[in-house]
Amino acid sequence: MTTFNDFQMKDEIKQAVREMGFEEPSPVQEKAIPDALEQKDLIGQAQTGTGKTAAFGIPILNKVTEEPHVQSIIITPTRELAIQVSAEIQKLSKHLNIRSLPIYGGQSIGHQIKALKQGVQIVIGTPGRVQDHLRRKTLHLDKVNTVVLDEADEMLDMGFVEDIEAILKQVNVDRQTLLFSATMPPAIRKLSKKYMVDPVTVSINKSEVTAPNIEQSYFKVLERNKQDSLCRILDARDPDLGIIFCRTKKGVADLTELLQARGYLADGLHGDLTQQHRDAVMQKFRDASIEFLVATDVAARGIDVQNVTHVINYDIPQDPESYVHRIGRTGRAGRKGEALTLVTPREMKHLRSIESEIKMYIPSHRVPTIEEVVE
Ligand code: ADP
Ligand code: MG
Repeated sequence: MTTFNDFQMKDEIKQAVREMGFEEPSPVQEKAIPDALEQKDLIGQAQTGTGKTAAFGIPILNKVTEEPHVQSIIITPTRELAIQVSAEIQKLSKHLNIRSLPIYGGQSIGHQIKALKQGVQIVIGTPGRVQDHLRRKTLHLDKVNTVVLDEADEMLDMGFVEDIEAILKQVNVDRQTLLFSATMPPAIRKLSKKYMVDPVTVSINKSEVTAPNIEQSYFKVLERNKQDSLCRILDARDPDLGIIFCRTKKGVADLTELLQARGYLADGLHGDLTQQHRDAVMQKFRDASIEFLVATDVAARGIDVQNVTHVINYDIPQDPESYVHRIGRTGRAGRKGEALTLVTPREMKHLRSIESEIKMYIPSHRVPTIEEVVE
């Protein structure tokens, strides 16, 4: 079995990995890191939550020098992800004397320009904001030797292909290009053919659609009792940290308000909120000063918060893919997680179709009675 010590890399990185509590490389790390350390172009495919960030973060950090210019650029689809990847890179580089910086829209560009001027070695950015800096000439990619496209499938889905190509064209051709993605649609193959040189492909095929460490169940509820049922379930299960999914922005706003009024530590996340507000909510959730994050699918895309113990589908997801994505917010890095879905009688057929798609039987639980939840 491979350990992190088997990789030919800086001791400072090995030490950081130990301090982060990583005991052994995840499958995608085990396969991708050696080739990436040898400067090969690489395509890494593995489901979410399998440690893809360190799979590219470690090789980047191993080659970065203290020279104060941008040497690596990591492109991510969303602001939240840029922040998250940046935080992981910062932990991995704790013992190295280098700087990394997330750059994304919604945050003052002046602040980012100032930070860039101070000498940054690794930039983690969203396509739009990176382009913005390139146009203003506040970001220079001429000395970049590694480009990472993270969550490439999401980026293509979100229509960023032109931005990505424009950015890739500004970087030296003798760079190393790493591409990570949960899925491999044809558009990604096309992109890789055009911009990568003999890439090694690392693909971790999951034997099951959903992670086995996530315990799934559903509750049959009546539409008119949905809110009360949810509160009883929350009281009975007492999640440490949970994400509650609603179908619509209004649903998120309404449910957040109700939970807050009833004294739960909850806050909402959806696309109509300002970036500043969203960052603040995410921060509160990350440091567990709220217990519940109420969110739409889009707002919760790619979010990686450790220790999320519960995912609650207040509204049943539209399709099986979305079900798999949602419940993947818990059970991170092999931890245990619970996924609970509220299902109204009309939605039973929908639940069955999810079950057949994910090839799993989802057992049901009874909504606890009032007596069962009052102490
Ligand atoms: P992905 O990008 O594949 O969705 P992430 O890189 O966000 O996954 O990693 C998911 C979580 O697993 C993170 O909290 C990360 O710190 C943790 N992690 C990554 N690699 C390991 C490892 N080798 N051992 C334990 N935890 C890990
Ligand atoms: Mg990732």
